[in-house]
Amino acid sequence: MEIKNNIQSILNILEPHNCKLITVTKTHPPEIIQEAYDAGLRHFGENKVQELVDKKDQLPEDIKWHMIGHLQRNKVKYIAPFVHLIHSVDSLKLLKEIHKEGEKNDRIISCLLQVHIAEESSKFGFSEEELIEAIQSDVISTLGNIKICGLMGMATFTDNEEQVRMEFEKINRIFKSLSANILPANMEMKELSIGMSGDFEIALESGSTMVRVGSAIFGERTY
Ligand SMILES: *Cc1c(COP(=O)(O)O)cnc(C)c1O
Repeated sequence: MEIKNNIQSILNILEPHNCKLITVTKTHPPEIIQEAYDAGLRHFGENKVQELVDKKDQLPEDIKWHMIGHLQRNKVKYIAPFVHLIHSVDSLKLLKEIHKEGEKNDRIISCLLQVHIAEESSKFGFSEEELIEAIQSDVISTLGNIKICGLMGMATFTDNEEQVRMEFEKINRIFKSLSANILPANMEMKELSIGMSGDFEIALESGSTMVRVGSAIFGERTY
């Protein structure tokens, strides 16, 4: 019952912003995830390939699985046949690998480019300069089995709301400036994946179209 109530109150907040909920299910067993499914949710996100693949096999087939965590190139092949959206593309090398696996599976794999906006160096992603360089390099347009749908970012883990707001505003500014530019044919700026349990309401003010929320639905994770 609690999960259902948590979901409803989050959906109520997202609704006026036309923002989608990606339910982050990492560490939770299939029985618990099923509760979120029964409440009507279909977009689920995991941050580890093995866990994603295991859960996919134990849960309903119409779930759209999102890869939200750091992705190693040698693991792309395990999720390429079914993944709905990869949020965490942080290099052109990885993008090329996703394209290659997309080709093998005869599908176009949707991706977001992760932008490094946090203070912490532990977080992955392109800097603004690297992003522009990648887009101008002409490589992306040669990768016919990927589609870039937008950007993803993670703010610094801090209680300082102003800092979080500044970081989300930064990625929103990059998102908007790219939207106004001529992009490769297989790239559009449609989705901005920012906001987690602790900061999604701030992200909504910075143009988030997708929030990735786990603990606000399922409670704190115990690893
Ligand atoms: C775990 C995780 C989330 C969700 O975190 P919560 O604070 O539980 O909402 C969002 N994005 C990524 C990349 C994550 O790894």
